[in-house]
Amino acid sequence: TGALTDAVLGALRHADSLRRLEVRANADTPEDAARARALGAQGIGLCRTEHMFLGERRALVEAMILADDDTAREQALAALLPLQREDFTGILEAMDGLPVTIRLLDPPLHEFLPDRTELALRIAAAEDPDPRDRALLKAVERMDEQNPMLGLRGVRLGLAVPGLTAMQVRAVAEAVTARLRAGGDPRAEIMIPLVGTVEELRLARTEVERVLAEVAEETGTPFDCPIGTMIELPRAALTADRIAEAADFFSFGTNDLTQTTWGLSRDDAEASFFPLYLDQGVFEVSPFETIDQDGVGRLVEIAAAAGRAANPDLETGVCGEHGGDPASIHFFHRVGLDYVSCSPFRIPAARLEAGRAALIGRAEGSDSR
Ligand code: PEP
Ligand code: MG
Repeated sequence: TGALTDAVLGALRHADSLRRLEVRANADTPEDAARARALGAQGIGLCRTEHMFLGERRALVEAMILADDDTAREQALAALLPLQREDFTGILEAMDGLPVTIRLLDPPLHEFLPDRTELALRIAAAEDPDPRDRALLKAVERMDEQNPMLGLRGVRLGLAVPGLTAMQVRAVAEAVTARLRAGGDPRAEIMIPLVGTVEELRLARTEVERVLAEVAEETGTPFDCPIGTMIELPRAALTADRIAEAADFFSFGTNDLTQTTWGLSRDDAEASFFPLYLDQGVFEVSPFETIDQDGVGRLVEIAAAAGRAANPDLETGVCGEHGGDPASIHFFHRVGLDYVSCSPFRIPAARLEAGRAALIGRAEGSDSR
């Protein structure tokens, strides 16, 4: 096995010397970040923050999202700030010297809110119902959505809940400052999810910049922090030229982009009718697994080109599941993206595939960039 390990390591080194695509990881804990780094990740392309709001912190999230009164929301946000700062400090430490793209909260809200029926039953069963339960039920009813995946998520949530974006950005900025003071080399980037129009991005960006400046002023330690956006809605892809003017980077969220381009639920479609479609030959392979070059892929290609034309410094990558899929990696290489980001365990294969893609591009003389 020693010889085999040497051969694999040799192949990986060779692939690394050839490839133009960088390979980053999707990771949201220090442990995953360290694992990814050991497997050769060149940074974190997507640090989701949703899991950081579950478990014991759920009650705080409910208070933050549902609070009618400003004081309760502000208290919840104040309690979340140090927890988030710890989350980010650990991840930045594990990825010291490498980019860490932290995405602002993008929860499908139904996963966070208390169950409406349960709540109603609890109120009905109680002799003297808790007024908090009543308030919660009213709020849940107000926020209940038939299609949470097309609802109050991503940038919309950040714009709707006062103080949420500021809390997360402050946590990032304070974590960066703490790492700088400890002699580290933190390289945080902030990413705004589910943007459909440049106006949303401009509003969110203004808030992010305001908080970064505020913390820099307080600490006297300014630092660079690129601010970018996910491109995961067809409208964002089609207006990429305008969006690029307010973004330092694009990260293609091909999971949502596939869902919204095809009108197929990423949570349900594979289980319900994909078997039939695969049988009937409509699909050779699930478009959630391998990039659909004619539809979703075209949007990626159009948006990357338009984005770069409008903003020559724009960095482009992909952080949907396709970032770790071999056939998709070849496609992303051909359309000239700068990086793919995938689950830690897929990193070695992604490095090899990115190397092969570069080799094929050279042999064909087709590399555009
Ligand atoms: C995506 O939509 O492709 C993505 C990376 O974001 P998430 O899977 O968290 O929605
Ligand atoms: Mg998404």
